[in-house]
Amino acid sequence: MGRLKAMPSDIGLVTGASAKSISAAANFLRAGKLVAFPTETVYGLGGDATNSEAVAHIFEAKGRPAFNPLICHVSDIEAAREIAAFSLLAEKLAAAFWPGPLTLVLPRAAPSPVSQLVSAGMDTIAVRVPANETAQALLRAVGRPVAAPSANASGSISPTRAAHVVASLGDKIDVVLDGGTCDIGLESTILLCVGDKVSLLRSGGLETGKIEKILGSKILSASPDDAENKPLAPGRLKSHYAPRTKVRTDISRVEQGESLLAFGSDLPEGSENARAMLNLSDTGNLVEAAANLFDFLHQLDETGASTIACAKVPETGLGVSINDRLRRAAAPRDND
Ligand code: AMP
Ligand code: MG
Repeated sequence: MGRLKAMPSDIGLVTGASAKSISAAANFLRAGKLVAFPTETVYGLGGDATNSEAVAHIFEAKGRPAFNPLICHVSDIEAAREIAAFSLLAEKLAAAFWPGPLTLVLPRAAPSPVSQLVSAGMDTIAVRVPANETAQALLRAVGRPVAAPSANASGSISPTRAAHVVASLGDKIDVVLDGGTCDIGLESTILLCVGDKVSLLRSGGLETGKIEKILGSKILSASPDDAENKPLAPGRLKSHYAPRTKVRTDISRVEQGESLLAFGSDLPEGSENARAMLNLSDTGNLVEAAANLFDFLHQLDETGASTIACAKVPETGLGVSINDRLRRAAAPRDND
């Protein structure tokens, strides 16, 4: 108990929830490493939500083909209020169901310490206060919001025991905090809660009937049609975050009046004409590039350029997700 055990795959499996093992795992998180930890829903693959590179590593480890926004885990409502804006209705839901298997998607606090990559560039953030004792102790010890999707490789089923995590991601993460079997074993219920409107983004461990009792009314499932331009759960996202400025991808030349989103040391022709330039990674590192992506798009969107011209990014590893997002940003807009 409380020891870092070397695993065949080189990860450390921290067993039990002793103060020592929790504090070891918290130190890993604060150092930008990935820690899988138990919650009452499923095991989460956690990274420091305020550290963009740590968040980029989460996507890399899961092998997700796209940047879906992640849920931020915090120890209590006070910590949640530092990263999200709570309406009266959101306060009511949090008071009724936190800690517990309910995730609230709320407007991001402004300014926010949380990386843009966690929200996939959108102005909302998904927040949850888990009830699991190990998760609670870990979050209190970290003292920062922890971004965590389910701790399984993309496309495989969610892990409810530490052994599932090791089997699926053992060679990709630094530590698994073993807290036994997850009580609920189903993902959290996700509600979009903006102003006085509540809609269901994903059903999960908290029954909607219980939520409706508190609200005193039915909750609607957000449909892709009435939710245009609003954030929705994956597969239902009709419009993704896109800059207001037009976007061109895979460019080989920068035209007059354009701003450049560069990648690597080889700059495209005409770079000297760029109105502004930000380089996702001078050294061509895809993790660094993913960490910078949404922040740089937001910055280049403010330069008054006619177009954001995006240099080619290799179609490997996180480059696949970066290109996916850039191409979506370049696609014709519904409101064009
Ligand atoms: P997972 O982390 O695998 O449980 O999935 C997290 C879920 O939360 C995904 O379905 C996300 O799309 C959803 N989610 C997280 N942040 C947001 C957001 N800002 N808006 C809408 N959905 C979100
Ligand atoms: Mg999942």
